[in-house]
Amino acid sequence: MIEVSNLSKVFPDGTRALAGVNVTVPDGDFVAVIGLSGAGKSTFLRCLNRLVDPSEGAIRVGDRDVAGLHGRQLQHYRRTVGFIFQQFNLVQRLSVLDNVLSGRLGYHPTWRGLLGLYTDHDRELALAAIRSVGLAGKEEARVDQLSGGQQQRVAIARAMAQEPQLILADEPMASLDPRLSDVILGILRDYNEAKGVTVLVNIHVLDLAKRYAKRVLAFNKGALVFDGPVTSLDDELETRIYAGSLEAL
Ligand code: ADP
Repeated sequence: MIEVSNLSKVFPDGTRALAGVNVTVPDGDFVAVIGLSGAGKSTFLRCLNRLVDPSEGAIRVGDRDVAGLHGRQLQHYRRTVGFIFQQFNLVQRLSVLDNVLSGRLGYHPTWRGLLGLYTDHDRELALAAIRSVGLAGKEEARVDQLSGGQQQRVAIARAMAQEPQLILADEPMASLDPRLSDVILGILRDYNEAKGVTVLVNIHVLDLAKRYAKRVLAFNKGALVFDGPVTSLDDELETRIYAGSLEAL
């Protein structure tokens, strides 16, 4: 369960990216985060794994007070959260397997990961993750030899190898050919259904959100303006979300 209360973020330059957000997400949900560009969607996801430090408010994920974590406790929390970036964030000159194995780094002292001393368990998890994103046979390929869509699948496999309790995906299809969106979202949905892991995905194409998500959170100017099942989205609501005419919840 994720419980966010009164979450606000003001960046050092004075930009208010989030304002008083309150939301609860039960375990196993598949949530699309929608809204105009600049609405605060990415900042919201980044606060959930502390890539961005909140200015105010509380974030609980499971039994952890995420907003208050630091040092080793923050590292332990982060290894349970898979974060998928628009630009993949892979090490281009390393193999698919090495990139996916790096999802296990949070479970070992740093020197061990640096020396490549992964355990058999790590390798089994990594190989299974590579299979489940459809890249079996590509384990030894260098990432820079892969297409963009394949690279994003490597990034998803790396997140899966973390054995996460939560996956956050920040417009994972944005730098790909639109035809690949279904592949990426399909992999995330299958994983959500098979493992019961909560997935939050920032999606700017509403039609995709409707096809894959169970629930929608809509942001406007840093405020949460809609929170409900995807089935309750209709033309009028969609127009109001994108026209910015809904009140903050
Ligand atoms: P979205 O993901 O909905 O496009 P963002 O969360 O990226 O929105 O951004 C919300 C607002 O915060 C925007 O006005 C954006 O320009 C601003 N913002 C994002 N990151 C920073 C930053 N590091 N410093 C200053 N302003 C930022």
